[in-house]
Amino acid sequence: MHAGADVVDAALKSLGLRQPGLCPTCCASTKVLGSVCRFCRESFCLAHAQAEVHGCGDAAHKAGRSAARKEVSTGAPSKAPKAQQSKARGLCL
Ligand SMILES: [Zn+2]
Ligand SMILES: [Zn+2]
Repeated sequence: MHAGADVVDAALKSLGLRQPGLCPTCCASTKVLGSVCRFCRESFCLAHAQAEVHGCGDAAHKAGRSAARKEVSTGAPSKAPKAQQSKARGLCL
């Protein structure tokens, strides 16, 4: 295996570089058949359009819960941990 390629790939991913119009998970084209996730705003192919499939399952569950229960604003600086950004990325780059 060429470790160097993995490093470059990881670096590119960390920059958020990816090709538009491609599913971030499997690189399938989303221009014809695609769906934009309402949580992460990314375009996914039909196979990965569901939030649970591409890594937005937590957001989907939270949204489902907060829909019934209003979020309470304390006005204090948010100490809440950042939303998990562990999306299931494929090997697009
Ligand atoms: Zn996909
Ligand atoms: Zn998403």
